[in-house]
Amino acid sequence: MLDSGLLAAAAAATGFMPADEGRALAEAALGAPAGPILEVGSYLGKSTLYLAAAARARGGKVVTVDHHRGSEEHQPGWEYHDPGLVDPAIGLIDTLPGFRRTIAAAGAEDVVVAVVARAEDLAGLWTAPLALLFLDGSHTDESAQRDLASWAPHLAAGGILAIHDVFPDPADGGQAPYRAYRTALDSGDWTELSGQGSLRLLRRDR
Ligand code: SAH
Ligand code: MG
Repeated sequence: MLDSGLLAAAAAATGFMPADEGRALAEAALGAPAGPILEVGSYLGKSTLYLAAAARARGGKVVTVDHHRGSEEHQPGWEYHDPGLVDPAIGLIDTLPGFRRTIAAAGAEDVVVAVVARAEDLAGLWTAPLALLFLDGSHTDESAQRDLASWAPHLAAGGILAIHDVFPDPADGGQAPYRAYRTALDSGDWTELSGQGSLRLLRRDR
């Protein structure tokens, strides 16, 4: 059973994860094979808490990686910029303090392992087979394809690849996550599970 307190904290947290998609992500993590859950793109910890609800139920951990400097759309002048997230001392976005508040306030510090790094740098150091990989980092084509290429090989057999913000229709949003999803599917290594909203779920066959 998913941890209901963490699910409620996730639903109340700031971020870009609708409750029905977060819930579907957590359910997928609950059903994944043994191993850690890994998230690319922690931001302020909202989706991390959905994964933490599953990690707690599994008796395991969720590892989440972010350089905490924001994606393109979070930078000054862009659609999702929040001036309150800029560290005045250095003039750069810093979502780490807010992330830590979210996780601590929800009482999830025991199941969340946060790594401050570029996802591609951590991927090069990683060896543990993953139960579930959640891709929700930068949504440029270069980043979305790089996250897929650098992290998907770390999934265990039967492990689940979750991709967020997949919009087949350009009118609904950017196409980079959709193209990464297509790249994965077209490789023939995956079976698609039923997703939710813009969340796609693929199970690794080989
Ligand atoms: N998953 C979050 C939202 C993530 S927003 C939620 O649903 O609540 C995307 C995040 O990806 C941003 O915080 C940004 O800093 C991070 N990011 C972008 N490029 C990255 C990279 N190369 N490595 C690590 N994190 C990156
Ligand atoms: Mg997202």
